[in-house]
Amino acid sequence: MELKRREEHLYFHRPWIGPEEKQEILDCLDSGWLTTGPRTKAFEKKFAEAIGVKHAIALNSCTAGLHLALIGLDLKPGDEVITTPLTFVATANVIVHSRGRPVFVDVDRRTGNIDPAAVERAITPKTRAILIVHYVGHPCDMDALCAISKSKKIDLIEDAAHAVESEYKGRRCGNFGRMTAFSFYATKNITTGEGGMLVTNEDALAERLRILSLHGMNKDAWKRYSAEGAAAWQLEEPGFKYNMFDIQAALGLHQLDKVEKFRRRREEIVLRVRREFADIPALRTLEDLPGVKNAYHLMPIYLTPRCKLTRDQVIQGYKEWNVGTGIHFDPVHLQPFYRKTFGCKPGDCPVAEEMGTRTLSLPLYPKMSDDDVQYVIDVTRKIFSAA
Ligand SMILES: *Cc1c(COP(=O)(O)O)cnc(C)c1O
Repeated sequence: MELKRREEHLYFHRPWIGPEEKQEILDCLDSGWLTTGPRTKAFEKKFAEAIGVKHAIALNSCTAGLHLALIGLDLKPGDEVITTPLTFVATANVIVHSRGRPVFVDVDRRTGNIDPAAVERAITPKTRAILIVHYVGHPCDMDALCAISKSKKIDLIEDAAHAVESEYKGRRCGNFGRMTAFSFYATKNITTGEGGMLVTNEDALAERLRILSLHGMNKDAWKRYSAEGAAAWQLEEPGFKYNMFDIQAALGLHQLDKVEKFRRRREEIVLRVRREFADIPALRTLEDLPGVKNAYHLMPIYLTPRCKLTRDQVIQGYKEWNVGTGIHFDPVHLQPFYRKTFGCKPGDCPVAEEMGTRTLSLPLYPKMSDDDVQYVIDVTRKIFSAA
């Protein structure tokens, strides 16, 4: 069968913005209140209820949330934070920004998630926290990680950028760590364009983080300028400019309603694609372990030793067929900064290195049609028939 190159580029990702989001943005603009206000408060409340946590603080990114979470730990210079190299650089950068030392440990090749045995081996008297990432939305091994956190008295922080809807043994991600950060970046499971949420169940910590998210002022704009507000405020601790504003929240309020609908469509696509690719020896896909609800945030494939093409050649192949791809993720510990500053080197995390340097992500989002999915499958067969 002759495969025809499609005319229209198949984007790596396209958000799904419905009429509800558009109307809410117009209403927000008409309301005259654009910065952090009633819509942000409503989004925080709705999000906290969805995850099942006491406090949710809406921010301008997940990176901001991870940064605040680590600031909340009051690290001393040189305190160690164990994390995964198979993540976006932000996860590790915030450790550096909060005076910590990142310690990268290896991952489980089935899921790409941090390996609890490797975490345990990396613990030293200086270890203060474990910063885990639910890679592509498959929850980490929370039984093992919570046990380590408890027995060694080390804080657990979740980077749930991929995992708004993920569950581990019936419990939503965001309920395991002391603090958890979510992302609403343009390509994430739900989006506010840019945005994030930091959640916790601790009252005093939540209060401090909320204040730190807006310069360290103990009253936000709504408390200062709304009809019931009082203008005076005080600074106890210098903070950051990390607050979400109401136009973003207008998107988030309605995106959150659609999170499960979006997930079901991505699940359908991922399961179909994994089945189709099972007989291509030059690539492999991820597995779902028992007891999890995977958010299926991404559709990564990994080139196996059987593959004769380089990753660049494969990416070029998709480009020639007009298909966009992404990389999730080049191992963070091998980035020049981490090599130079912390002496990280090839061989430190062999599984993450093998996966991270031999992976690319195929298009995956609910707006993809069945024909789009079939096209990606057909193109993949074409490319890998030469591999
Ligand atoms: C996207 C992403 C982030 C950063 O999210 P932002 O909202 O863009 O700051 C952090 N960690 C992981 C694993 C991500 O994929």
